[in-house]
Amino acid sequence: DKNRLVVEFGSDARNESVARVVVAAMMTRINPTLCEVEDVKTAVSEAVTNSIVHGYRSGTGVITVEVYIEDRTIYITVRDQGCGIENVDKAMEPMYTSVTDGSRSGMGFSFMEAFMDGLEVLSAPGEGTVVKMKK
Ligand code: ATP
Ligand code: MG
Repeated sequence: DKNRLVVEFGSDARNESVARVVVAAMMTRINPTLCEVEDVKTAVSEAVTNSIVHGYRSGTGVITVEVYIEDRTIYITVRDQGCGIENVDKAMEPMYTSVTDGSRSGMGFSFMEAFMDGLEVLSAPGEGTVVKMKK
């Protein structure tokens, strides 16, 4: 499909910026405003960072970012095969973080929700995590 892009990369912190830029590049097709591009980049960054620091916290693995464009809407899926989330509703609460060393603020999902026009999180322990967003 000419409106679809799939990128697969390893869970290295440096790939977070790669994912962000790739999605932004694909997004130029719908002539977004600078503001829209920034919103999407922030959301992608949060989702990919989560896969790296939470999903694959005890190792490395593959992260898949899928972009689909239809009319003037961009659909983004960020997928990992990491540890998964036990309680998705709780994880999505503003300021909830499972990291207890103070390095995280628990705002990632809140940002994704605020900056995008739709957010869906599918996850279970041991099953990895799928984050679906649209703008
Ligand atoms: P911040 O994003 O502000 O640095 P955070 O990552 O802890 O902090 P969120 O992004 O909102 O906050 O995520 C909330 C919690 O959901 C995380 O602390 C983690 O427990 C869990 N989580 C999120 N994404 C994943 C993932 N891909 N795999 C496993 N757990 C995840
Ligand atoms: Mg986060």
